[in-house]
Amino acid sequence: MIKTLRFWIMLLISFAMIGILSIALLSGYFVTKENVVNNNLEINRVYSMKLARLTEEVFNGMQSNLQVKASDIVANINDADKLSDKLGDLLTSSKNFNSLSVVGRDGLVLATSPEIGIVGQILDTPGPQEALYERKPLISEPYEAATGRLLILISTPLWNEKNEYLGFLAGTIYLQEDNIIQNILDEHFYEDGSYVWVVDNKGMLVYHPDPERIGTSVAENEVAQKVLRHENGAQKVTNSEGLEFLAGYTFIKSSKWGVVSQTPYEVSAAPLAGMVNKMLLYALPFVLFLFFLTLILTEKLSSPLRKLAMYSVGLKEKGGLSEEVDIPTWYYEAKQLTETIQEYAKKQEQTVKNFKERSYTDPLTGLRNRRYGEKVIESWTIAKQQFSMIMIDIDHFKSVNDTYGHQVGDDVLKFLAGKMNEVVRDDDVCVRLGGEEFIILLAKTDLQEATTIAERLRMNVSSALCPTNEYLTISSGVGVYDDFNESIEDLFNRVDVALYRAKMEGRNRVIQSESTL
Ligand code: GH3
Ligand code: MG
Ligand code: MG
Repeated sequence: MIKTLRFWIMLLISFAMIGILSIALLSGYFVTKENVVNNNLEINRVYSMKLARLTEEVFNGMQSNLQVKASDIVANINDADKLSDKLGDLLTSSKNFNSLSVVGRDGLVLATSPEIGIVGQILDTPGPQEALYERKPLISEPYEAATGRLLILISTPLWNEKNEYLGFLAGTIYLQEDNIIQNILDEHFYEDGSYVWVVDNKGMLVYHPDPERIGTSVAENEVAQKVLRHENGAQKVTNSEGLEFLAGYTFIKSSKWGVVSQTPYEVSAAPLAGMVNKMLLYALPFVLFLFFLTLILTEKLSSPLRKLAMYSVGLKEKGGLSEEVDIPTWYYEAKQLTETIQEYAKKQEQTVKNFKERSYTDPLTGLRNRRYGEKVIESWTIAKQQFSMIMIDIDHFKSVNDTYGHQVGDDVLKFLAGKMNEVVRDDDVCVRLGGEEFIILLAKTDLQEATTIAERLRMNVSSALCPTNEYLTISSGVGVYDDFNESIEDLFNRVDVALYRAKMEGRNRVIQSESTL
């Protein structure tokens, strides 16, 4: 089935609307996604920077705590009990250290706080060895201490007034136990899956929310590698479990660590689905409004063409226009088409009418021809309608032709036709069957009435001068058709017989043919 214009317009507009809506939603989605991602990257970058600065400040604070205490320690270097007390005081006041110790220049532990059972031992672990070697304020790399703990050592050298090196005062941070770094970083643990981790300059985790992972290597991690190259910034990264994160990272100069703050990518992108739904919800009333508006407009646009199409189908089926159709022509194309088609159809109808008229008309007299007469009789007999027939023949017509010529003969025929038209009523039909044979078909007329009309015609013809300048007479046979079983042929024969009798009985007369009823 071929589709209508309205269907195609609606299809086109629906496609266009869905397309535009999808593009709007998609571009909205992607732009927002980019914004959300960039925002999260920036938040994490700034956050890692803040944490780095905070950690750096805490380390500097711890370092200066040690330096302030150094002279006091030097003064009591030979009194183990006093040293222990001094360390105890510092431990309580600072709260940032897990433990404090004083180590002699040969690596011998002179005092500790709290008591951890290493006084009198020589320390040969990397942190103390580095402090003894460098003889300056240091933050060590993480190392495993004699106690088996993973820790970092913050130390300051001890010098007496004579500028002799006595050893160092050091504080520790136990990486895998409750410590100052955890206190700083745990606070900032988000509920949405964001977290912070800290890596040392070898790629080893010195802080992670999962304590199990502290001390393990993340050197493979893309962000860790960047921080190890002393870079700061933010990027998307995949963690060891294959999850995607938006990470910000900052390098801490004093400890050479990197602080990384990261938010799960999925969490960042979560509001986007809601946003798309909301956009759809906002757009829906407009889309529906537009859709119905389009529906109405499409109807208005296509209705002239549809009506025109129906009108043309009507023309084709009926073979002509029967009634004027009201076609809305509010735009140019519809107006032109309608006008042209209607005008053309009218002309066509006129032509057809003319042809029909001609095919039913006798060209000489202008009366109806035999074909038309037969059609009329057929329609009346089908409708079982009574009618009468007058059959007319000119008396001695041959002599008219012989005397005045065929042309005058034709004029006489026209003269008779005129007389016939004068006596008939609107519903009656005058027919020239051929030659000089005529009939008049009288609708709903009985024999008597028909005879009266035939008589009137006979009188009218005979009392007027015809084109020969003489008087002309006619003979007629009259019959009524009221027996619907009688054939038309029989009717013709009957009336013809009556006409023949009129001729036999002297012409210029009307003879009735009795009904067969
Ligand atoms: P009757 O009184 O017995 O009818 O005598 P009639 O001479 O009229 O005889 P008939 O009716 O047989 O004559 C027919 C003549 O009509 C023959 C022909 O010359 C003439 N005729 C037939 N058709 C035409 C026509 O179209 N034009 C002319 N001018 N004459 C015609
Ligand atoms: Mg004749
Ligand atoms: Mg005749």
